Amino acid sequence: MLTSTTLSTLKRSYWVVEIELEERITEITCFNPECSNRIKTTIEQKRDFLISFALKYDATVLPTCSKECAQKLLNILGDYKEIARKAEEARQKMRKKKASSDDPRNQHRQT
Ligand SMILES: [Zn+2]
Repeated sequence: MLTSTTLSTLKRSYWVVEIELEERITEITCFNPECSNRIKTTIEQKRDFLISFALKYDATVLPTCSKECAQKLLNILGDYKEIARKAEEARQKMRKKKASSDDPRNQHRQT
């Protein structure tokens, strides 16, 4: 759960950066699917959000325009995580079943 302090820190460091004049500016669309606000960012930051973080830390930053959108996005991601967790559980059950019934080596060991 992101606290409002964390959110404002994130906001300061990533979303509403004091942009130096010489840095090139671009935009990212708010990641709340229901919102079409745009967030100004430097090209360097956009590269970090979308590419570098994924390559370096296996994590993607999903910038949002406001605290409300951040919360909305967290709720959506929570739903997806729950779905993904259930799907993974089902896959593991299938794998176990398959391993014990289909693998001839297992059948020999068990008998
Ligand atoms: Zn938004």
